[in-house]
Amino acid sequence: MNILLVEDSATLRHAMSRYMTDAGHRVVVAQTGEAALQLLEDTSVDMIIMDVELPGLNGFETTRLIREWLGDHWIPIIFVTGRNEDESYREGIEAGGDDYLIKPISQTILQAKIQAMARITEMRDQLKQLNTELAALSERDSLTQVLNRRTFNERADRLWAQAERQQTALSVLMIDVDHFKLYNDHYGHPAGDRCLKQVCDAISACLQRPLDLVGRYGGEEFIVVLPETGRSGANEVATSINQAVAALAVRHEVSPTCPVVTVSIGGACCESTGRHSLEDLIKHADRALYKTKHAGRNHAQVDDVETHKTLLIVDSDHERLQSSVDAMQSHCNILTSDRADECLEMALDASPDLIILESRLANQFSNKLQLQLAQNPKTARIPLLLIADSLALPREVNTDMVRDYLDAPFTPGTLVGKVQELLN
Ligand code: GH3
Ligand code: MG
Ligand code: MG
Ligand code: MG
Repeated sequence: MNILLVEDSATLRHAMSRYMTDAGHRVVVAQTGEAALQLLEDTSVDMIIMDVELPGLNGFETTRLIREWLGDHWIPIIFVTGRNEDESYREGIEAGGDDYLIKPISQTILQAKIQAMARITEMRDQLKQLNTELAALSERDSLTQVLNRRTFNERADRLWAQAERQQTALSVLMIDVDHFKLYNDHYGHPAGDRCLKQVCDAISACLQRPLDLVGRYGGEEFIVVLPETGRSGANEVATSINQAVAALAVRHEVSPTCPVVTVSIGGACCESTGRHSLEDLIKHADRALYKTKHAGRNHAQVDDVETHKTLLIVDSDHERLQSSVDAMQSHCNILTSDRADECLEMALDASPDLIILESRLANQFSNKLQLQLAQNPKTARIPLLLIADSLALPREVNTDMVRDYLDAPFTPGTLVGKVQELLN
């Protein structure tokens, strides 16, 4: 051990130094409290033997200052004194000392006390080590070893704040294993676990930069934050993840879409964080993931939050639906459906910014789809643009959600105009 001996008497200093070096310790000496404090600034010591009666700062005063200086870092301090009185003993312990040696000093007792304190120091080190390991463990998901959701959120917030300060781009990817329920059902849960670990390792291996962050967001869902990365960069990473997972060639013989395990990826990027929040970005990535799933899985789509609002078009007239999609394609992210029941489900999952709904469908489905949308807190605030065709019910039945009507037939220009008006 490195022991600091603070002792003004040359004879004692000499004798005690020898006792300690004989026991295999390294000793540094100081003759005063002030000298001890100065020495501690650039010397690391494991224990201090402190004379109580010193010129200038006495041993108790010096100890108080040392404890203050060391803060949470505890090292043993043993006092050396000629005053064998209860009160002095109490004062020393209160000042931050751990034990006492009474003059004249016995070599055996000095060495035994150092040994006892060394044992406590060792326990302190073990405890510290365990705490560090525990803290690291509590940050990670036990199966995949990537950050758990809580820690991921904390770190992602920091990256977001940094992107805000430096006005740089940032992208988020949501990654979901395709048909994983079928995988578990067919191969069993333990095989499912092994598969998840492999997929997660493949994802991590695709992240090249030191600040890139990956976390387990839920069961078979992972999330990635890519700082200083815009849309094309995020697309590149996402594509490499698709390829890396497929290249694992983990057989999935009951998957309806691919004979090996694949992932679907939805991404969102923002070139500048200014008008957005991280939650915003994650929500957009979620929507993009939803679209990837609907578009057949095993690929990636990254949207730009700035330019792309999400539009849900629900129309049973297929020709009109297609021409609406053609008209809006370059302006928005588009989801479509031709069924009222699917509309509610999609609105809940994808939280679109606007729903264009054929009024005939709006009044269908468990008496009224638009009432169902209006009554659900998750969809109640989404504006509706109703396509009013000749079969529509009277307009009085509509709810507050309806912002405008589009009289059919309408031109692509009218549609774009109305949508832009409603979205801005
Ligand atoms: P989709 O392609 O639409 O994502 O279909 P899916 O089957 O992957 O989606 P779904 O959300 O229906 O099922 C997810 C499954 O993931 C259900 C659950 O059993 C499985 N899962 C979630 N966490 C774990 C896990 O830690 N280990 C294992 N083995 N399976 C898990
Ligand atoms: Mg003295
Ligand atoms: Mg999922
Ligand atoms: Mg899945």
